[in-house]
Amino acid sequence: MLTIMKALQKAAAYFERRRIPSARLDAEVLLAHVLELDRIDLYIQHDRPLDRGEIDAYRKLLQERTRGVPVPYLTGRREFFSREFFVNPSVLIPRPETELLVEAAADWCRGLKGPLLVDVGTGSGIIAVTLALLLPQSRVVGVDISDGALAVARRNADNHQVKVEFRQGDLLSPLQDLKGKIDAIISNPPYISQCEWEGLPREVRQEPARALLGGADGLDFYRRLLSEGAPMLVPGGLLAVEAGWGQADEIAAMAGENWRVEETISDYGGIPRVILLTRRAG
Ligand code: GLN
Repeated sequence: MLTIMKALQKAAAYFERRRIPSARLDAEVLLAHVLELDRIDLYIQHDRPLDRGEIDAYRKLLQERTRGVPVPYLTGRREFFSREFFVNPSVLIPRPETELLVEAAADWCRGLKGPLLVDVGTGSGIIAVTLALLLPQSRVVGVDISDGALAVARRNADNHQVKVEFRQGDLLSPLQDLKGKIDAIISNPPYISQCEWEGLPREVRQEPARALLGGADGLDFYRRLLSEGAPMLVPGGLLAVEAGWGQADEIAAMAGENWRVEETISDYGGIPRVILLTRRAG
């Protein structure tokens, strides 16, 4: 008889042999998923036996994990801003740093009446959906080039019962009717450079390359957001972006005369992570 506790011990040992970094945690999250329990219940029900179907389902997930599939793709879930979001391999897995971007953008928008906000490269929709929840008076539009991503983003907006308008297209191109009317553009664009890509862990390389790669130096999307974004915003409008390691200074240097750099916010690791710029009037 295989109990919950024994299954966990075996799975964690198997992951350790296969050098999975958070062996015990992953073993727990995956078993909780199979049994449709919270992690804490694995301890409360530690001597509950698993049936054949549960063992098979668990074994299948363990194998996929050792092939490098990230846990959120196996469970279909990831927490962001204390809320649960659906994810699949069509979208980037939400990262905690992105909460700083959402918080900064929401703070900046709070004084505005019924602002129009655009999340460019919405992916799973975490930014658009969270902003719509935090700022119920706003109109939020999410843009992505990928069909698969938009399907995930729509599902997340439905799950959280918010109205977000999703549009498909390249960067700001599907927003021409909103030219000059947008109060804030928020984006966590792909920012990995070609040479960084080679050194990324295999888990990260399972995420969509299109959501990660930002050209030779990783800055292509910032260049485009700065040049194509300015005419889309109202004068004084906000461009809030997340940046990769070492990129914040380069983005500030690229800003030019159309933009004023308002603030750079560092993440918990001390890396400048979020940049807020406003469009200069005139
Ligand atoms: N906006 C999504 C996120 O922040 C997707 C970003 C992306 O795919 N580059 O997670």
